[in-house]
Amino acid sequence: MAWFTRDIVDTLGGWFAEKSVLYEKSRVLQLLLREITLTQKMASSPLLKAWVKNESDPRARARAIAELEDFRHFFRSKSYFFAIARSGNYYFNDEKGDYDLDRPRYTLSESIAKDGWFYATLRQVPDYDLNVDTDRHLKVTKVWINTVLKDRGEPLAVIGTGVDLSDFIQSVISTPQPGVTNVLLDRNGAIQAHHDVSIIDFASIAKEQRNEQQSTLLTLIEAADDRAKFQEALKALADGKAATRTVQVTIQGKRHIAGIAYLPDIKWFMVSLTHLESAENRGYFATVVVTRILGLALTLLVVGVAFDRMVLRRLAILDAAAKELSAGNYAVKFPRQGSDEFGRLGRTLEEMARQVRAHTSDLEQQVTERTQVLERIAYADFLTGLLNRRGMIDRIQMERNRLARSHGKLGVIVLDVDHFKKVNDAHGHAFGDRALVHVANMIRGVMRSYDVCARWGGEEFLVIVPDITDHGTLGATAEKLRQEIARSPVSQDAPEVRLTVSIGCHLADPAETIDRMIKAADDALYLAKQTGRNRVVIADPAKT
Ligand code: GH3
Ligand code: MG
Ligand code: MG
Repeated sequence: MAWFTRDIVDTLGGWFAEKSVLYEKSRVLQLLLREITLTQKMASSPLLKAWVKNESDPRARARAIAELEDFRHFFRSKSYFFAIARSGNYYFNDEKGDYDLDRPRYTLSESIAKDGWFYATLRQVPDYDLNVDTDRHLKVTKVWINTVLKDRGEPLAVIGTGVDLSDFIQSVISTPQPGVTNVLLDRNGAIQAHHDVSIIDFASIAKEQRNEQQSTLLTLIEAADDRAKFQEALKALADGKAATRTVQVTIQGKRHIAGIAYLPDIKWFMVSLTHLESAENRGYFATVVVTRILGLALTLLVVGVAFDRMVLRRLAILDAAAKELSAGNYAVKFPRQGSDEFGRLGRTLEEMARQVRAHTSDLEQQVTERTQVLERIAYADFLTGLLNRRGMIDRIQMERNRLARSHGKLGVIVLDVDHFKKVNDAHGHAFGDRALVHVANMIRGVMRSYDVCARWGGEEFLVIVPDITDHGTLGATAEKLRQEIARSPVSQDAPEVRLTVSIGCHLADPAETIDRMIKAADDALYLAKQTGRNRVVIADPAKT
């Protein structure tokens, strides 16, 4: 965790140092560029040039002094200086404005070390330069803006203004941000401004010329490794390779992040040192970290809840419904609400389920109908439309089961057409068929709707009379059948053919087997045939 916060603090610190140094740079530039522009304007004044070329001319001097006084009011410190190369005369006026301008304040000398800045500037500065120094006569410490006045390329004077160092530090170096120190370095890394005035490298330009030891920020950086990185950063910035650089350095045993920016107009570097472990910064960064982490956690929570609500839950419901559907529950309800993909999918799946359901019940209906048709075909005699043998056995089975509960009896009637062979022989097979249909219709006409009639074979018919109670009723029914068939001719057309049938009856107990029932009726039929045909014989219950 310590490593984690340290890493975040470093990252945020770097980010902070970068923003901070850009801000500080703009503050410095704002103040200095105005002063520099004014000194350049002053250096290009023809009145001033005229005086420099003829210093002892009182009229030229008067005009130049008036011009300088005009400029003085625009400078931040309300002061200017004017030092002429040929004579070494140094003129100066400040906000008090009470100097006698007819005479120079003093005369500079190349042999005095303290005046080194003047000769160095004349020799090596093409345009202007900044120098932090204390004036040896006036005892004022200023950020001097030294501008070279030239005529046809020849340096004739150094003129300019000075911003009071304490004013400068107060205005652009000090920062209310705790744990942050701003430093201005010249192109060699010499310290030009720092809230600790004692480490400022005064009169850097002169020292540089004399190869003297300078007070640089580099000497304060403890590790050689950090120094190399810092120097590399300065070089990259001066070469314009980056707008800002951040380097971690240890100064006075404390870890800092240095944000560095280059100010090309004045060839200085702005360095913003942020002490990462200072109590205030740790608190600040910790707050940032905690706020960020909380923000992130909250975002994740909201996204998670929304994802669960909008996607996962609905997906689970859809999944459950789809499983029910695949298990065959076509009446399953899908979530239909919502105009998004889930809503659409739900509605589509439910419509699909509805169609499958409709289709399935349609198919089931068709299968039922077909099965009924097939059953009818399987159980029907195709010639007469009565039940066939299989259909009859099925029905006897049902009737037996039913009667077993009600203790009723079952009348079994077997009919056989007499001498049917002869009918076929006399009138043809097709007529024989029509005759069989006729007999079937006669049986249907005599029997009630709940009696069961079948063509049992060739010209033999079987009738079952459920719920019959006695032999008398059974015999009477059989007798009626016999008479009706004998009475009505096969067809209305000539030739008039009448048929007779022999009938065997048996009053069966539902407990008897089907074979047993039929056998008893058959035996009675046999007896009817034996005893002259066209008659009814009832099986003797004593013999069965
Ligand atoms: P009886 O029963 O009185 O003893 O004489 P029968 O001539 O009826 O007896 P039999 O059982 O010997 O002959 C039955 C005849 O019925 C033989 C067969 O050609 C005829 N027959 C059976 N089925 C059909 C049919 O579906 N159509 C026609 N046209 N004739 C059939
Ligand atoms: Mg027969
Ligand atoms: Mg017969």
